This record gives sequence, structure tokens and C-alpha cells, in this order.
Amino acid sequence: MSSSKFGLPEKVIICNKCTYTNQKPNSTIEFRSKLGDQKSGLLFENGTCVACKYSETKDKEIDWGKRRQELMKVCDRFRSKTNEYDCIVPGSGGKDSFYAALVLKEEFGMNPLTVTWAPHLYTDWGWNNFKIWIDSGLPNFLYHPNGAVHRFLSRLCLENLLHPFQPFIIGQYGFPLHCSQKFGIKLVFYGENSAEYGNNPKDNLSPTRAYRDIGIVENEKSYIAGIEVEQLSRKYDIPMSSLSDYIPPKVEDIASSGMEWHYLGYYLKWHPQANYYYATKYNFTPAPERNAGSYSRYTSLDDKLDDFNFYFFYIKYGIGRATYDSAQEIRRNDINRKEAIALVQRFDGEYPSRFEDELFDYWSVDKIPGANIKMKTAFKSPSVNREYIQKLSDRFRSPHLWKYNTALNKWELNYKL
Ligand SMILES: [Zn+2]
Repeated sequence: MSSSKFGLPEKVIICNKCTYTNQKPNSTIEFRSKLGDQKSGLLFENGTCVACKYSETKDKEIDWGKRRQELMKVCDRFRSKTNEYDCIVPGSGGKDSFYAALVLKEEFGMNPLTVTWAPHLYTDWGWNNFKIWIDSGLPNFLYHPNGAVHRFLSRLCLENLLHPFQPFIIGQYGFPLHCSQKFGIKLVFYGENSAEYGNNPKDNLSPTRAYRDIGIVENEKSYIAGIEVEQLSRKYDIPMSSLSDYIPPKVEDIASSGMEWHYLGYYLKWHPQANYYYATKYNFTPAPERNAGSYSRYTSLDDKLDDFNFYFFYIKYGIGRATYDSAQEIRRNDINRKEAIALVQRFDGEYPSRFEDELFDYWSVDKIPGANIKMKTAFKSPSVNREYIQKLSDRFRSPHLWKYNTALNKWELNYKL
């Protein structure tokens, strides 16, 4: 029997250019993710991961001047002549959404409506940057889904998948599409394609995302926490009206509306650290402290839940936040591999204690004012604490990655960078 819990290769391979391993799962379409689904891992060519390979393509093969002209043509096709909003830029006020919305406005003459599917729990500095983003000259539509349901779903995803961030991700993808339908704005801009960091490298060749990857195809069911949504509605007595935010629009509706989803990273050479410097010109400020599990102060800093999101990723795949941050910075020549390895060894997998009490409250169903009786009694232990989280986490450790060091009384990875 395989000792790999999630279908990833049993033999760990480390990239010879960055800090990624072949255990980094390719992104899944979250609303299609069922319980027990197997993952596919990052692909390698001659010891180098496809993310590093694509990074070389970005530096050596792509004519960025030509791509910029292509972007102008797309903008010309959709630009409003009657002063209406002509594109949607989703974001929460992080460095990338700062860059995306402002570059489209200032350099391409677009009139973007920014839309925000709210983070679970804004950090103080994330909320501050969100306000600065709007004050830098952008209209914004901020939306919070039903808070009781959202908290419950996050807890359910924690229990079923060790992935409490999933309700945010599902909403974050679907919300701009719903906005496009509601407001009749046909052009939606996303940042970079996640294929830049793995997945199917061929996806990098396309500026747009296929409708079948973002919408519901005919007779298809959608899932949250690995459970089909209508079943979840019945089981926990949650009206479908409170779950509709988590179901993307139908492919046929998207197609007939003429909506197009474009990746800005296809047209403009995406560089997270450069986006950060761009955003600082508009007073974007980094976090006052490094992110838990990493050395960085400028990435994914707006949601308190992000700390655990990366921590759980480390438990499941051996890949922590410092690995994420350093791999990207190596590829953009911001740091070298030796520096990166030292940072990973120092920070990866650090237990994120800074917001834990607030997050435990967030997940404790007995503390959700609007939870119904089925939600309140859904779990053996309604409340959550550190001991509970650690026991739950251990159930998701794959034997091919982890061993327990009884002398030191702690878990250790089976391999070293
Ligand atoms: Zn690599």
C-alpha cells in the first residue's frame, strides 16, 4: 500500500534551481474537489521544476513589448465610451491587486471597478492597505458572504480537508464572475496564472481562462469541504440561498454574456516584489512584522487565516510559507538558492501562534451567533484549541513525508533541502 496520503509521488524530488519539491500539488478547481480526490504533483524536467522552466521562458523567450500591445488591443475592445466601468479587477488590496488595478487605470486608460470578496479576518495592516487602495483612486465593491455560514464552512473544511481557507478560495474565484453578470461588465482581469508556479505549463500559453474551468457545466454539481452543496444544505439545514455565493455561474450563462477572463500576467511580466515596490508609491505598507512561517512582510498579509493556511500546507505537503516565498524570489533573482535554503530551514513550518486565539474562536461553532442547532452539533468538539488543532493536523501527515522523533518529541520531515 502506498504511504503517500494524497496521491503525490512517494519519492521526494527537490528542484535544483528553487526550493520547491515534487510534493507541491497542482492547483485543483476547488468547487470540483471531492473527498478523497488524489493530487498530482509539480512536474520536473532534468531536475528542474516546470515553474523554474517557465521563469526562464519569461526572461528569455517572451517579447514583452509585443504582449503589452496585445493588452492594449484587449483594452481597446472593451473600453467604455460612455464613462461606464469597463473591467473588473478582483482583489483585497494586496500588492498584486494594487498593481493590477492601477496599471490598468493609469497606463491603459481603463475604468476598473475593483471587487473584493472579503478575507475571513482582515489583519489591521491588511485593512489599512485595502483603504489605501481605494484612496489611490479606485471604486470598490466589498462583499461579505453570510458570516455564520462562512465560519461554519471554514470549520467543516478544516475537519474534512485540513483546508479552512477553501470557502474563501471558492468565493474569490466565483464572486467576480457573479459581479460580471450582475453589473454587465464583460472583462475580468486576474493577476498571474497559477500555472506560472506549476500546474499544466501549457496553460501559460493562453491569455484567457476557459469557461469550463471557471463555470458549472451542464448537470454538474459543485462541492464545498468535499461535499456536494445540495447535500451539505440538507445535512446542516443551511438554505441554498446562503450557499449560492459558493456556486459559480453556469458556463452557458458566462458564454452568452460574452464575459472574458484575462490574466494580466500573460501581458505584463509578473514580478511580485516589483508589484510591491509599485504599490508602495501609492503608500501600500508592508506588515509591521514578518509573516508566521516566513521572512516576508509583503505577501499574503491581509487575512489572519493565511498563517494557518500555509501551516496546514506544510503539514500535508512539507511545503511551508518560506518555501513559497523563497521559490518565487529565486526565480525573479531577488535572492539566491543558498539564501533561500537557509530561510526555509529557519522559518518553514513555524507554528503560527500570533492570531491563534481569534482563529480558534472563529472556528468554534458554539461561538457563532447565527449557527443553527445542526451546525452547533456537527462536530464532536464544538470548540477548537491548540491541542485539538495539533491532533487533527497529525491525521493529515503523510508517512512518506514525516517521521516522529521520539527523542526530541517532535515531527520531522524525512528529507532535507
Ligand atoms: Zn524550481
